[in-house]
Amino acid sequence: MPEKTDFDVVVVGAGPAGSTATKWLKDRRPDTRVLLVDKAARIPRDKPCGGFVGPEVLEVFPYLKGKEREFLESESFEGILHSPDLRYQVGGRTKMLGLLRSTFDGYLTKVAQKAGAQLKTGHRVKDIKIESQKATVYFEGRKKVTTRAVVGAEGVVSVVARRTGLHQGWQSNQVCKCVVKEFPVDPEFIKKHLAPNRAVHLYLGFQGTPGYAWFFPKTRHINAGLGCFANHQVRLMDYFRLFIKLLKGWTMLPDSARAEGVSAGLCPTVGPLDTTQSNRVLLIGDAAGFVSPATGAGILPGMISGRLAADTLVEALEHNRFDTEFLTRYQRRWEKHIGRFSSELMVQRIFLTPFCNLFIRIGQQDATIRRLVTRAQSHTAGGSYAQGVSIPRLLGRVAWDLLKGAFGRL
Ligand SMILES: Cc1cc2nc3c(=O)[nH]c(=O)nc-3n(C[C@H](O)[C@H](O)[C@H](O)COP(=O)(O)OP(=O)(O)OC[C@H]3O[C@@H](n4cnc5c(N)ncnc54)[C@H](O)[C@@H]3O)c2cc1C
Repeated sequence: MPEKTDFDVVVVGAGPAGSTATKWLKDRRPDTRVLLVDKAARIPRDKPCGGFVGPEVLEVFPYLKGKEREFLESESFEGILHSPDLRYQVGGRTKMLGLLRSTFDGYLTKVAQKAGAQLKTGHRVKDIKIESQKATVYFEGRKKVTTRAVVGAEGVVSVVARRTGLHQGWQSNQVCKCVVKEFPVDPEFIKKHLAPNRAVHLYLGFQGTPGYAWFFPKTRHINAGLGCFANHQVRLMDYFRLFIKLLKGWTMLPDSARAEGVSAGLCPTVGPLDTTQSNRVLLIGDAAGFVSPATGAGILPGMISGRLAADTLVEALEHNRFDTEFLTRYQRRWEKHIGRFSSELMVQRIFLTPFCNLFIRIGQQDATIRRLVTRAQSHTAGGSYAQGVSIPRLLGRVAWDLLKGAFGRL
């Protein structure tokens, strides 16, 4: 007989990953006692983010389909990549959904609560202890609960990962530091200058920084930001001011827009951890590194990892097996359905090379490359990694164009 515990599963962090794991687990095994905890004083809470996600989110999570009015702000139909020297562009038709994170995340948490989970806000987890028959989760202020399993979903800084020895934290060359601002903008401005496509723009290697700047127009907001590897001594705010000035000059932001009042955040950029589970513990979302190294998109892969963790926990609860060996099923699942982002890592490397200008220049003239790149933009925002875009094909096409350029007609 398992020892009596307060809960069957405690999920730490009510972001997209944690709320999705909770909802999925309650749907598949309704009598499971699930506690979802967050340090935020209340939900909805905000999270520094661009707020763009691929439309696949509605297919992968069917309970979101038909509910778009609850969490969706806009749709975009074009994606454009700009070369670091700002001289070349490659882009085309694609589809992406624009959200405000407070609204979207708040909706996901509401759905998890409706499925029957208990939510505790204002509870910061500071430690966990794993024993043979149970785990204990300790909160700030001496409170604690016992549980059979713990899901670490606290985002980029994970106490659960650290305390279990799964991860001691990201090195500065493994994360991007970012600044971002969600500008409230008169919808008429957006209609006049940016509709109907509301093109999403990525400015690679903006002003020589190892990273990129982005421009995501929505319906009542425009989200602009930039990020670069945290081990580079870059004054992000100076670059952000310059970016805002340029956007105003290109009539992409109203003159009244001010660069001050940004939020800052970190984004893991090296793919998932080698190991994402240990006795009674699973890590999901940013805590496990499920973010595209090419674009920084982590909402959908984080949600998918939550679903896969829930599937594994259903089996663990049925067999009363919470040992590392059994929970390795989770890792096998995500390796199959999400993967290790090897294509995205390759794209990241291309973006960071001095050949990036050349790559975009070639792409600008080649319809096949344009199609592959726009598909890649939407896919990496969407998280269909396993069936993603063929990077070898993309590279092959670039090599082909280079050869054609070098040797004339082939
Ligand atoms: C500037 C920026 C822009 C981005 N833009 C995009 C984008 O456009 N599209 C996209 O797909 N991805 C984007 N991302 C990545 C995306 O934001 C993350 O991948 C996503 O939020 C991960 O979800 P999560 O549930 O794992 O963690 P989070 O969303 O970070 O949620 C973690 C939750 O855990 C709680 N928490 C943390 N510590 C504790 C604790 N000790 N105890 C209790 N609770 C705790 C937090 O309060 C939070 O609510 C961006 C990231 C950044 C930094």
